Amino acid sequence: MKITVLGCGASLGTPAAGGFWGKCDPSEEKNHRTRASILVQSKETNILVDATYDLRIHLNRLALQKLDGVLFSHAHNDHVNGIDDLRVIAYHSNKLIDIYSNQETLDEIERRWPYLFQPKFKDLYVEFLNRNIIQNYDRFRIGDIEVQSYEQDHTACLSLGFRFGDFAYSVDVAKMNEKSLQSLKGIETWLVDGAAYHRETPMTHATLRQVKEWADILKPKMTYLTVLSTHMDYKTLCEELPPHIRPAWDGMEIEMGTNRR
Ligand SMILES: [Zn+2]
Repeated sequence: MKITVLGCGASLGTPAAGGFWGKCDPSEEKNHRTRASILVQSKETNILVDATYDLRIHLNRLALQKLDGVLFSHAHNDHVNGIDDLRVIAYHSNKLIDIYSNQETLDEIERRWPYLFQPKFKDLYVEFLNRNIIQNYDRFRIGDIEVQSYEQDHTACLSLGFRFGDFAYSVDVAKMNEKSLQSLKGIETWLVDGAAYHRETPMTHATLRQVKEWADILKPKMTYLTVLSTHMDYKTLCEELPPHIRPAWDGMEIEMGTNRR
């Protein structure tokens, strides 16, 4: 199983529109960040997590033409606003694309993009997405990859984290309950939101202190930070962080030995 970090930026990307780099060094390639999203692949299955504003760039970069499922963590704009770009993949695959999330997120997506599911002018347009409601704590398969969802407190709403074998992805999370930490027990590699790294208390994203506490409990071999804002310069982070916690970068690949627990 291979994980590709399609994007590891916060909602504004780095640089933010207008060329605002904040504390990030523009000459460092790993500071060039699109919005947070990953691709999880086995030999036969491709799973996308979140459809960001930058989805078209991500799919083109990998020349990816087939998706077996799309998981949505929550319905904030930077995680869903690329959803129209799934149309071309559905069209060329000649089948509906299965999307997965909890009821609240799927209802919000359908409220905002009803034509993706039920086009108003049926002789002009066709639907191209198929809803699959999952529970906040659920276990299901997409192709040959087992997926486990777990609930996360994002303050403004609940988000879902996703575990794939020994790897887990926790985007947009401020706090986590005991049951969710239990769901993460035994992971080897964790890609987790660290956007509030410079804050003392979490707002909608995890602080660095919180990520360190979680990593001490879960003890993954490697923890990578995602949702990196313009406050977070790659080299500065590498100097500040302990060796088992590293910043991610766009295009980073993680090879995992197994997709089963
Ligand atoms: Zn969010």
